[in-house]
Amino acid sequence: MTDFPGSKMSSKSEHHSIERYKSKKSGSGTIVSAMLLDLGFTLGSDARIVDLDDDRIIQDQLKIQTIHKSPPILGLLCGDFEAAENLVELLKSKANNASIEELVQCGKSFLEQHRSRHAFTTYMCYVKERVPNGYIFYFVPYFNHVNKCEEDYTCKCPMVGIRHGARELEHGSIYNDGSGASDAQEHLSMSFFDGKMVQHVDAADDYQIANIKKKLKISLIQARMITRLAMIHSCLKDNNCGAPFRVCSVSVDGAIEKEGPYGFVKTYLDYFQFLEAHDRTTLFLIYRQTLEGSNFGGFVVENIGLPVKKKGHRVALLEGDFCLHRVIFKEAKDVNAFFDDGEAVTECPPFSTDKSHLKTYKLDTREVKKNKDNEIILGLKTAKFSEQEVAMFQDFETIYMGKPTKDFLKSLKEEVTLFDEESP
Ligand SMILES: [Zn+2]
Repeated sequence: MTDFPGSKMSSKSEHHSIERYKSKKSGSGTIVSAMLLDLGFTLGSDARIVDLDDDRIIQDQLKIQTIHKSPPILGLLCGDFEAAENLVELLKSKANNASIEELVQCGKSFLEQHRSRHAFTTYMCYVKERVPNGYIFYFVPYFNHVNKCEEDYTCKCPMVGIRHGARELEHGSIYNDGSGASDAQEHLSMSFFDGKMVQHVDAADDYQIANIKKKLKISLIQARMITRLAMIHSCLKDNNCGAPFRVCSVSVDGAIEKEGPYGFVKTYLDYFQFLEAHDRTTLFLIYRQTLEGSNFGGFVVENIGLPVKKKGHRVALLEGDFCLHRVIFKEAKDVNAFFDDGEAVTECPPFSTDKSHLKTYKLDTREVKKNKDNEIILGLKTAKFSEQEVAMFQDFETIYMGKPTKDFLKSLKEEVTLFDEESP
């Protein structure tokens, strides 16, 4: 199977999204990566989409799509997903009978007519005469923010202009886009240290490492490995990016290699030796997905009241509607103290194959459910919950904990979103 399917999702994971977000697609938050190397090009993407209005993670989406099968033209979607997907659908519908130049024109006309307060970019990559090539289509509105407002999406400040257009990608370059782009670029600059780091603030706001020379001839397998490692690094730093990850490459002969979707846990285990430097201060929390709210699970961490350095965020979905959340503590001893204080688990929960790696903690949510007037609180500190969600809270929620050991990670059952024709 060399084809990236359309966006129709298989039913396997559908029940995991909260009902009211089921049809919603207009979200942003991404890390995408494209490398144009000597032996071909590679693309990588996470799957996370964050609601543009209330900072919630909505269902995963397919951000690498096939625009044309043979010769292969692949699309990489970033930012406002609905708009990026509309553009890709248009390119797909024209690709059979159009040259690359005509597709670029077609994309440009789409951008001219598009109106929105939300930015997006779409990459279109292909091989031309055995040289990897591509274009970035970009749509970036800009605003006249008043009173130090720096919001771009939720504020009502006047929009004063739009930058849009298409720019050709450069061979020997790596591109990163999305909210995790600067983290990915920083990470990749260690591997491609001789390249020049650029951010195209005058146009698409994308990050480029240009003119790499020393590793331009690396194998595509190696390039895909480096890409996935950069993506998990971004995912660990940025709430808006997250697993599962997909990577693929197209060789100068037109051969497509596709990998993934890889869940967070699988990726963490694959790169364990590179990630374990952080492990001493890391603790994983596992809680019911309902508790995540609009601050990526920060609500749970706040209410435990511990000396954390970074509240972290949900990094994976686990079986039984649970999610895995990574927290960074200030000191390693605090991780051990908190973990050792927890209660042992007597019955194996649905997301685990080995309860011996787990401890539990009880989170008191009685105050959350009712204020002094006995009214349901819908916005609590930084997190917002719907009335329906609050009604689903239990008085004492069980929060599970696990230390980042290989055995703990191997005992977890992760849910990975699959699209038609995909297998994990
Ligand atoms: Zn504003």
